[in-house]
Amino acid sequence: MPNTDSILRIALQKSGRLSEDSFRLFKECGIKFESGTGKLKTSSSNFPAEFLFLRDDDIPGYVEDGVADIGIVGENVFVETNRKAEVTYRLGFSKCRLSIAVPRGVDYKGVDDFQGKSIATSYPRILANYLKEQGVKAEIHEISGSVEIAPSIGLAEGVCDIVSSGSTLLSNGLKEVETIFRSEAILISNKKLAKSKHDTLNKLLFRIKAVQTAQN
Ligand code: ATP
Ligand code: ZN
Repeated sequence: MPNTDSILRIALQKSGRLSEDSFRLFKECGIKFESGTGKLKTSSSNFPAEFLFLRDDDIPGYVEDGVADIGIVGENVFVETNRKAEVTYRLGFSKCRLSIAVPRGVDYKGVDDFQGKSIATSYPRILANYLKEQGVKAEIHEISGSVEIAPSIGLAEGVCDIVSSGSTLLSNGLKEVETIFRSEAILISNKKLAKSKHDTLNKLLFRIKAVQTAQN
């Protein structure tokens, strides 16, 4: 029976684009746990870890608050939520980018075209930082989903959303014009981990690195 102080609480996305690769990573590390049973919490049978299955947006906050010790989340979500946690390891999967897109027919000349215009996004913080850097004053319309339809319904001149292949943009009559952020899955950890948990985290990182070295 492991010392309970050393049990690492790990927050993973319940189901979505991070889940499969996150679950696989632990399996490859030889860490066994049950997933997909509908349970929101489970323990590993052979490693001092407990898994919490959550919505990805909630993971940075749980890690900041110490409800979870570590978590796997997209860097885009980590930066957007602006929660305080350590970026401990870059995992290299779930790669995507945050881009601005406009209707295909628009004669786009540069980011200055957005001066006085509006952009719909689920990433208001990252977009605001980018526009500020570029010296562009544009209105940001925060919407939580289906961002791509905003131009066609007259809500905004442009959109700023996650792109991986570009097919969603294409099927909504949009073209990508600026990439503002590149993201991948990252392992984040609580800033004040107890020594005993830190030791468990180091064991985990050692295994992750070994798995990744073997694959490259
Ligand atoms: P949840 O229900 O947990 O809130 P979600 O719908 O917000 O999930 P997903 O679409 O599963 O999130 O994406 C999770 C993360 O996967 C994104 O934040 C991003 O880092 C990454 N990702 C990789 N490719 C894509 C893509 N094509 N579209 C969206 N996200 C992607
Ligand atoms: Zn989400």
